[in-house]
Order: sequence, then C-alpha cells, then structure tokens
Amino acid sequence: MINIKPETFCANPWYQIRILPDSSVSYCRRGLDESHEIQSNNFLSEFVSNPFLNQARDHFSHGEPGVMKNCARCFREESQGMDSYRQEQNIISFIHPDYPAESLAQSDVLHRVHHGVTLPKNVFVKFSNRCNMTCRMCSGQSSESLNQLYKESAPERYYPEYATAWPDDPELWQSFLDITLHNDQLDILQINGGEPTSDPKFWEFLNLLVDQGKTDIKLIVTTNCAEYHPELVPLMKKFQFAVLDMSVETFTPANDYIRVPSKHTQIKKHMSLYLQGHPHENFIYMLHITPQIYSIADLYTVLDFAQSHNVSVSCEKAWPQLHLDPVILSPAYKQHLVDFYTYRYRNANASVKNAVGRLKFWLTLPEPENIAELRHKFVTETKLHDSLLGTDFSLTFPELARFFRNI
Ligand code: SF4
Repeated sequence: MINIKPETFCANPWYQIRILPDSSVSYCRRGLDESHEIQSNNFLSEFVSNPFLNQARDHFSHGEPGVMKNCARCFREESQGMDSYRQEQNIISFIHPDYPAESLAQSDVLHRVHHGVTLPKNVFVKFSNRCNMTCRMCSGQSSESLNQLYKESAPERYYPEYATAWPDDPELWQSFLDITLHNDQLDILQINGGEPTSDPKFWEFLNLLVDQGKTDIKLIVTTNCAEYHPELVPLMKKFQFAVLDMSVETFTPANDYIRVPSKHTQIKKHMSLYLQGHPHENFIYMLHITPQIYSIADLYTVLDFAQSHNVSVSCEKAWPQLHLDPVILSPAYKQHLVDFYTYRYRNANASVKNAVGRLKFWLTLPEPENIAELRHKFVTETKLHDSLLGTDFSLTFPELARFFRNI
C-alpha cells in the first residue's frame, strides 16, 4: 500500500531520466556515479521499467528515504537547516517545503505514483564525453581526453564503454527523440557534457527541435565557455524558456590548474560576450561553481563577477571525490575562509548569499573520521594528475603545498 511521507518523499524518479555518455541511466544529479546500465535499446522503456528507477519509486512511495548513497546527503542538509537538493527538485514538481503534504496532494506527481509513469517530464542528457578540456577532477565519463590519458597511464581508470557514443546507435537515438522531440509532457531538457558545444550532435539536435517547432520547453545548456559560439544564445532564445549555465572554477590561475588547457582570462571574456545576449524573463544566465580544495580560496572572483553582472550562482560541491573536499583543510585555514567570505559578502544579493551560506556550511562540517586517509589521497591524486597534465601544484599553491607536506 502506498504510504508517502512528505518529509522523505522525492519526486525525481517519477519525473526525470538522466542519460549518460555510456547510455546508462539515472534519475538525479546526485546519482550520476550510481547510474545503471540500460536493459533495452529504448530510453522510454528504461524510464518506465528500469529496476533501478523502480526501486527508488518503491522506497519513496512507502515512506522510506532514497536508496542512493547521496540521498543521505539531502536529508543531512535538511537536518542541519539547509535547503536540500531534494527540496529544490520537489519545488520543480510543485511540492513546496513549507506545505509538503498540501502541495503534494495537488501535484500531478501523485497521479504518477498511483497510476505509473508514461513519459518523463525532465530529460537530462550527455551525448558523449567529447570535451575541449581535461579537468583533473573529471572522469572518463565526461572527458574523452582524460579517458585517453588514463588508458595510457592509469589503465585501471580507463572506461572503454565511453569510447563510443550512444547517439550513433539508430535505435537508441530514435528512442531519445521519442522522449524529447515527440514527448508532449516534456517540461525541462538539460544538456550537459563533456562540453556539449564541442559535439556536433548537440547542434544537430537543437536545430532539429527548432525546425520541428518543439520549443515549448525549458532548455538548460551547460558550457565551460572555453570557446565562444555566437550562434548559441540566438538559438536558445527560440525556446519558451532557456538558461545558459556557465561553468567555471575561478578567475585566477587556480582555474587553469584545474581545467587544462584553459585560460581564465579567455573564459571571462567569453562569458562577458555571452552576457551581451540581453537576458529577459524567458532567457537567463547562471554561473556554476564546484568548490574544491584547489578553488575554495579564489571563489570570490566568480562571486564578485556574479554580483556585478547580476547573475545567479549555483554552488555544488565536488562529488564523489571526497579527497577534494575543503573539509580536509586545516581548521585554522577553514575558519579564515569562513571569516573572509562572511565579511566580504555581508551585503551580497540573495543568490551570492546562498552560495556563501553553502560554502560556510561545508567549511564548518565536522572533520571526517578518515581525514588522514583523505589527505593522503589528495596528495597522491594531485601528483598523478600533475604528471598526466603537466601542471605543478607547489608552484600554483605554495601555501597549500606546505600544509600538505607537513601533515
Ligand atoms: S533524495 Fe536527494 S539524492 Fe535522493 S533522489 Fe532525491 S534529490 Fe536525489
């Protein structure tokens, strides 16, 4: 018998399908490292009956918390007074955290819970792992060049399944069109990568949607802005609502250390060019930061840029790479960062304040029990990627290098 508890319920598995470059599927941004292989050659069948999605539906509809390890993170955030990703996702499904039971009763997700799913409302897709960058915190799943480096130098990390792209399979491609182009329930379409603009399939698909008049959706495109494509914003503006999500680490050399080969000055220039596209109520920009040890001290450069250009910031911690988590830095340094961000953004706009609140929350979490192991892993991973990417941690971060040498 169905027994939903609004305080544990998450609408994601009833609404979303996330398709990764190896064609595996998931239903949550926080579940990308727990994606499951497809059982058929059809994404619609996967949305309806993939056992992984059904298991999640079963848990949430019986008052139990989610089955993925990251679901615990949502509940931990809530217990510590933060807005969780679960609440954020439920709001998209019109389930309001202040009135969860009442709004759930009015949301059409309840119909889906009782009568089963037919078509997804939200589709997130990565066409391939093609990218113009080799970022040290990435994986072969999202970076073709990193996958290639691993093949040669760290073969245990190489994923042969990412060497091919699922859109090349005509059956899978057709089924993808069935849940997007031919899906009259589609509300949100999110395209990510790799770097989507580096993939010809991205341009082909967006133009197909426009040519076929399937523009009555909310489109979200994430780009690293390493290149500037003047045709991107005009194309996105043809949709009912669109968000250009611009991802960056910092506007300092730390960015170029993390994302190889990139130039933060160039990225800033490209972002400024994109921002000339005149946002309006149906077309907005967003900045996207992923705090990690290498970037945490310089994030103010992006927050300042966001404030001065009046752009929202999305701030999500690197995951699941726990060894990159700023929580493993020294208590004194973390406190210094908390004080710095608190003072600098005491009068910030709501979006920047929210990002700063998340930074402070993460910086004041208790140290993990395996902190020594994580610090050791940070050092070995940093050395590995320095040797693969030709970077030098000690030169870019002399103070951090001193700290990690002395632990
Ligand atoms: S509870 Fe959180 S991690 Fe789990 S599916 Fe929902 S949003 Fe994702």
